[in-house]
Amino acid sequence: MNFSTPITIALSKGRIFRDTLPLLERAGITPAEDADKTRKLILDTNHDNVKLVLIRATDVPTYVQWGAADFGVTGKDVLTEHGGEGLYEPLDLQIAKCQMWVAGFPDADLSLRRLRVATKYVRAARAYFAARGQQVEIIKLYGSMELAPIVGLSDIIVDLVESGNTLKANGLVPLEYMHDISSRLVVNKASWKMKHADCSVLVDRLREAVEGEK
Ligand code: ATP
Ligand code: MG
Repeated sequence: MNFSTPITIALSKGRIFRDTLPLLERAGITPAEDADKTRKLILDTNHDNVKLVLIRATDVPTYVQWGAADFGVTGKDVLTEHGGEGLYEPLDLQIAKCQMWVAGFPDADLSLRRLRVATKYVRAARAYFAARGQQVEIIKLYGSMELAPIVGLSDIIVDLVESGNTLKANGLVPLEYMHDISSRLVVNKASWKMKHADCSVLVDRLREAVEGEK
């Protein structure tokens, strides 16, 4: 497979890169270097026209929205908070899977009026409580949400849970399941139109790769 136009794919280091790598390989794209071992922000691949850019997970939708990258791989959680403007989401890559939960102390009272919710996932949390008509006070944090109930910053948290070990280590438990999270392939809307042949080949290849992983 050859690409006739330059294609840039935005990825983040760590779990997303590790889990995307086998899918890219199956789609015939091999990075020239290991993302977790380089300080470079732009990686070449075996295709002259295909480059990977390595950025913070939360910045991936922004790069793709503005066309600084044609494609990106990003968690559904990040996509929800971004809002998805300027993007299509053609494929669930079924990687970096986890769940979003309401969590807190085992005896937390979820029926409190003006329940205080600490989270990095403000939009997701607001939508969840709005859907059941509950007024909550959302406190935006950027990490270590588990600390918030312990120090009395919030009554509960909304966070991603994989094994539950981080919650447990801090005396917290998952209280209410919200939804499943996985990483998605996103594509810039203009790229999808202007570079349609190359973009659709890549999406098809990755779709086959995802099917093949099952
Ligand atoms: P940083 O850790 O640099 O603050 P981040 O938490 O957004 O950034 P990662 O920890 O690499 O970055 O997570 C990237 C994505 O992987 C998340 O957006 C989410 O979709 C998914 N993810 C996060 N935590 C877990 C987890 N415990 N298990 C599985 N997937 C997860
Ligand atoms: Mg993290």
